[in-house]
Amino acid sequence: MSEKRVYTFGNGKAEGNAQMRERLGGKGANLAEMNLIGVPVPPGFTITTDTCNEYYEVGQDKIVELLKDEVNAAVSHVEELMKSKFGDVENPLLVSVRSGARASMPGMMDTILNLGLNDEVAEGMCRKTGNPHFVYDSYRRFVQMYGDVVLGMKPENKEDIDPFEKIIEQVKKEQGVELDKDLSVDSLKRLVTLFKTAIKDQTGADFPNDPIEQLWGAICAVFRSWMNERAILYRKMEGIPDEWGTAVSVMAMVFGNMGDTSATGVCFSRDAGNGENLFNGEYLINAQGEDVVAGIRTPQQITKIGSQRWAERAGISEEERVAKYPSMEEAMPELYAELDALQDKLEHHYHDMQDMEFTVQEGKLWFLQTRNGKRTGTAMVKIAMDLLHEGMIDEKTAILRCEPQKLDELLHPVFDKLALSKAKVITQGLPASPGAACGQIVFHADDAEAWHADGHKVIMVRIETSPEDLAGMSAAEGILTARGGMTSHAAVVARGMGKCCVSGAGAINVDYKAKTVEIDGTVYKEGDYISLNGTTGQVYAGEVKTKAAELSGDFKELMELCDKYTKLQVRTNADTPHDARMGREFGAKGIGLTRTEHMFFEGQKIIAMREMILASDVAGREKALAKLLPYQKADFKGILEAMDGLHVNIRLLDPPLHEFVPHDREGQEIMAKEMGVSVTEIQKRVNSLAENNPMLGHRGCRLGITFPEITAMQTRAILTAACELKKEGKNPCPEIMVPLIGTVLELKQQKAIITKTAKEVFEEQGIEVEFEIGTMIEIPRAALTASQIAEEAQYFSFGTNDLTQMTYGYSRDDIASFLPAYMEKKILKVDPFQVLDQEGVGQLIEMAVKNGRAVRPELRTGICGEHGGEPSSVKFCAKVGMNYASCSPFRVPIARLAAAQAAVEE
Ligand code: ADP
Ligand code: MG
Ligand code: MG
Repeated sequence: MSEKRVYTFGNGKAEGNAQMRERLGGKGANLAEMNLIGVPVPPGFTITTDTCNEYYEVGQDKIVELLKDEVNAAVSHVEELMKSKFGDVENPLLVSVRSGARASMPGMMDTILNLGLNDEVAEGMCRKTGNPHFVYDSYRRFVQMYGDVVLGMKPENKEDIDPFEKIIEQVKKEQGVELDKDLSVDSLKRLVTLFKTAIKDQTGADFPNDPIEQLWGAICAVFRSWMNERAILYRKMEGIPDEWGTAVSVMAMVFGNMGDTSATGVCFSRDAGNGENLFNGEYLINAQGEDVVAGIRTPQQITKIGSQRWAERAGISEEERVAKYPSMEEAMPELYAELDALQDKLEHHYHDMQDMEFTVQEGKLWFLQTRNGKRTGTAMVKIAMDLLHEGMIDEKTAILRCEPQKLDELLHPVFDKLALSKAKVITQGLPASPGAACGQIVFHADDAEAWHADGHKVIMVRIETSPEDLAGMSAAEGILTARGGMTSHAAVVARGMGKCCVSGAGAINVDYKAKTVEIDGTVYKEGDYISLNGTTGQVYAGEVKTKAAELSGDFKELMELCDKYTKLQVRTNADTPHDARMGREFGAKGIGLTRTEHMFFEGQKIIAMREMILASDVAGREKALAKLLPYQKADFKGILEAMDGLHVNIRLLDPPLHEFVPHDREGQEIMAKEMGVSVTEIQKRVNSLAENNPMLGHRGCRLGITFPEITAMQTRAILTAACELKKEGKNPCPEIMVPLIGTVLELKQQKAIITKTAKEVFEEQGIEVEFEIGTMIEIPRAALTASQIAEEAQYFSFGTNDLTQMTYGYSRDDIASFLPAYMEKKILKVDPFQVLDQEGVGQLIEMAVKNGRAVRPELRTGICGEHGGEPSSVKFCAKVGMNYASCSPFRVPIARLAAAQAAVEE
C-alpha cells in the first residue's frame, strides 16, 4: 500500500494546506498555506505526523526504507526550485530540518539548521559567496546542532554546560573577543575541527560527511525529540496527547547571517502581552534563526514606535537610540514595508493574531513560519473583542476564541496602588508577561519546585531560561531574567502560562553558585522577597501588596456576550457574605452551595458546637443548639442579603462529627469545664465518635436523621433570617438542601422536619417566605433512584466530589498515593476529581436528570462539586441540560465562558 508520507511546497505551489495541520503539523500546514497565498517561503517538504508514530512502531531502518523514494523525489523538487544540489561543491543546497506538531510547542522539540555542509561543500560555498566568515559561522553552528541533537552530545544533566559552549568560550578567550559574532574565520574553522574531535572523543562516531546521511539522521532525531523530557512535560501541562506525533519539515536554508543586508526576526501582528492592535517584534542584523530568541544578544525592535517605547523604558535618549538601536522600520525601510504588508495579509487570511518568523537574506525577505500567536489572557480577551469590532470575526467566533482557563489571569491580583506608590523600584526590565507577583527569590528550577511544594511563593531569577526550566517556571509566581527580549524563551513561555515575567533586566548580576543576585549595589540572597510588575517591567524590593482584579472593559463585554448565548446559568459557591458578593460581582446568578460547617469553626461557635456534639442527651443538645442558633442566623442573614433576589442553596450540616471535637488534652479540658463533666467523660465521647471510614460514616443527612434537632435548628436559623430580611423590604430566596441521601425515605423524613419547623417560624414571625427543599445527588443509589427522589425534591444538586468518590471507589483523601502511577500507566488521563468523568459518573448524572424530570418536569438541576468551575465538565453539564453550574467566585467567569461555548458549539 502506498500511503502518502511526504508533501512538497515551493514557488507558490503546495500539496498541503492550512486545513491539514493534523497530518502536516501546524508549521508544515502553514508553510504550505503561505505558498498558496503568495507569501515568500523557501521551498521544501513536510513528512507527516503519522510517519512519526510509524517511526516509534518500526524503528529507524525501516522508516528510512519506507520514506526513501518520496524523500528523494522531494529533495530533487527543492533542488530544482533552488537551482542547486544537495552536497554539490559548486552550488550546494543547504536545508533546515524542523519539528512541528498539530498544536504549537514552541522550543520544545529540535531543529537543525545549515544541514548539507561538509569540508568540501564549505570551501565551495566560500568560493561562491566570497564570504568565508558567513560560511564557517554556519558550519560551526551546524556541527554543534547536529552533535547536540542527533549524536546526543547534549549533556543529560541540565546543570552541565554543553561541551560545545565550553569550546566556544575557550576559543573566544584565545582570540581575545567577547561575542560570538567577533570570532575570526580562523577561529570559526578551528571550532569546526574541535567540535568534530569532541564528537569523536565522546561518542566514538565520526561526524557524517554525506549530506544524505546527515538528512536521515536529522529526520529521525526530530521524530525522537517528540519524546524528549521537556516535550513530554509540556504536553502534560497543555493536555496534548502523546499520540499526535510531530511532523518534520525540511526546507531550503535562507541566511540572515550573510552580512549587514541580512537579518532575522520574530514578529506579532498584535501585542501578545496586552492585545493592543500594534504590529511589533524584534530582529537582529547579521544573525541566524535562534539568535533572536536565545537571549544571547539583545535584539532590536522592528517598529519605530516599539523602539521608542523600548528606549524610554531603558532610559536611552532618542539620539542614542537612533544611532545605536534603530528599528527595522528606520534601518531597512523598504523591507519593513514589505514585512508590514505581509503580516497584515496573514492576519486577515487567518482572522487571528499571527506570530511569525522571517529572515532577510541579502535584501530579500522570506517567511519561515506563521501561527496563531500565543497570548496572555488579557490579550486573548482584547484581541477577540477587537477582531469582533473590526468585523473580522462574528460574536460566536469571539466567544470560541477565548480559552476559559486563561481568564484566570484576568482574575489574578494586581498591585495595590497605595502599596505600589511606597514601593522602591530597584531595576527595570522588559514587560514580558503582565500581572503582579511577589515572592522569595530562587535561582534554579529545582529549587522553585521544592520551595513551592513547601508552600512558599517564589520568584525565579535567572540569567536566561531554557526549556529545561519549564517545571520551575510553572511553580513560580513570576520570572525575572537578566537577558533576552520580548520573544525570548522566558517571555514566550511565561505568556503561555499566564505567568508574570520581567525579562532582559540587564542591570542585575546573577551568581548561580552563591545563589545571589546583585542589583544596583545591593545583594539579594535566596529567600529574600522581591516583587515584579510584568505589565511595566519594573522590579521592586520586598513584598508589595496585591489586590483583587475586577470585571471591566473588554472582559465585561465578553461576559455579556456569553450571557447572550448561554443556556446554563452560573452560580457561585459561597460560605460567607464576602464570597457571595465577590461571586455576584463576577456575574454569579445565585449561590449553588453554601456549606454550613465552616461557620462553626470560629471563636465561641466551636465551643457551642462541641457542646452540642458531646452532649449525652437531647436536652443537652438542644441547650447547645440554642446557643448556636443566633450565630447561624446572623451568618445566613448576611449571605442572603448579599444575594438579595437570587437563589441561595444552603446545605444542612454535612461532615462527620468527629471533625469538630477536640482531640487534644487541652481542648478536652476546656469542654469538660464548660459542660461540668469529667475529662474522662469527654474523652469517652470523643473516642466513641471515631470511625474507620469517616467518609462513609456518620455524616450528611445521617446526622439529621439521628439528631433531628440539628436539622430543626438550621432550618430555623435560615428561615428566621429570611423572614427578618423580608420585613426589612428585601427579597431573600433560600433553598434548603439535604446532603448525602441514598434513599428517598431519608429525604422524606428530613423534609418533614424542615416543613414543620418552617410552619413554626412563619407563625412566630407573622410572615412567610417562599423557599424550596432539594437534595444532593452524590451517592450512586440516589442517582439510580432519581425518579423516586424527584417526587420529594424540588431540585437536585449534583455533588460530584462524593459521586466521583463513590462511583470509582477512590477515596478522595487518599488518591494521591496511587494517582501518579495511574496517570503514568495511562489508566487515568486526568484526575477524576478535577475533570468530571463523563463516561461513568456522567452516565449517572445524565440518567438522574432525565428520570427526575420525567417525574417532575420543572425539577431544577445543578452541579456544585469542584467540577463546576472546570470548563470541560461545565460543558458536559450544559449538554445534559442542567440549569446551572456552581463554582468558587474566582472561577465564575471561567464557567460563564465555558457555558456559552457549549451553547455556541451545539
Ligand atoms: P521552533 O519551533 O523551536 O521555533 P523552528 O523550526 O521554527 O524551531 O526553527 C528554529 C529557528 O530557525 C527559527 O528562528 C527559524 O526561523 C529558523 N529557521 C528554520 N528553518 C530555516 C531556514 N530554512 N532558513 C533560515 N532559518 C530557518
Ligand atoms: Mg519557530
Ligand atoms: Mg458531599
